[in-house]
Amino acid sequence: MHATGGEVDLQPDDARKLTLVLRSRDGDEIEIVDSGGTAFAASVSIGAGGVRARLERELLAQPPPLLDITLVQGMPKGHKMDFVIEKATELGVTRVVPLLSQRSLVEPRDGKIERWRRLARSAAQQCGRGDVPVVENPIPFAAFCSAVAAYDLVLIPWELAGRRPLREVLPALLEGVRRVAIAIGPEGGFASDEIDAAAAAGAHPVSLGRRILRTETAGLVACAVLRYAASDL
Ligand code: SAH
Repeated sequence: MHATGGEVDLQPDDARKLTLVLRSRDGDEIEIVDSGGTAFAASVSIGAGGVRARLERELLAQPPPLLDITLVQGMPKGHKMDFVIEKATELGVTRVVPLLSQRSLVEPRDGKIERWRRLARSAAQQCGRGDVPVVENPIPFAAFCSAVAAYDLVLIPWELAGRRPLREVLPALLEGVRRVAIAIGPEGGFASDEIDAAAAAGAHPVSLGRRILRTETAGLVACAVLRYAASDL
C-alpha cells in the first residue's frame, strides 16, 4: 500500500515507456495505480538511475464494473490471443481463461502466459483501468464445465444455437447476475458433445447472429453486448 507524499521508483519497463514513448519530462504529472488498485496523481523526477514518482494526491477509485465478466477463450492460433487479451482488457473483463477444447490445436508454449499477463498489464494502464485482468493458466474443457456453477451466468455462443437475438434473451438471463462467463470456441468451433456437456452443467448456448464471427471477434462482441445490456457502455 502507498500513501500520499510517498515516493516510488518505477520499474525499468515503465520508466522506459514514460521517457521514450510518452516523452515525459521532469516534473510532469502522471497517474499511478498501485497493486492494491489505488490511483494517485504523481509528479515524475527523471534521473540517471531511473524514474521516481512522488505521490501528490489520491484519486477517486473507479467504481467496480456492474458486471464481472470472465472470458473463457478457446485457444486460437498464432498471435490472436494477444489481440484478445488486449481488447478484452479495454472492454473491462475481470479474467481471461484460455480454454483447451477438442478442436483447439495449440497448447501455449512456454513464456506465452507471462507474455499475456504483461500485455494485460500494459493494456490496463493504457485504458486507465485501476485493476489488471487476471490471465489464468489454460484449462481443459472438463474443468470449464466443473466451474460453470461458480458463475451466476455462463453463456456459450454457438453457431447452431438457434436464432433468438441476444437483445431478446439477455434481459431475463441477466436478472440479478453479477458474475458472468462467456465461453468462445477456437477456430474450429465447439464439438456438439462439448455444447451438451456445458449445457448440462448449466451454461446457456446463445447465438451471436447470422454471420460466423472469427474466434478473436466473437468474445469481444459478446463482452461489448453484455456491457451495453448492463448499461455500462
Ligand atoms: N465452427 C465454426 C466457426 C467457429 S467460430 C465454423 O468453422 O463454421 C469460433 C467461435 O466463435 C465459435 O465456437 C462460437 O463460440 C463463436 N461464434 C462465432 N460466430 C458465432 C455466431 N454467429 N453465433 C454464435 N457463436 C458464434
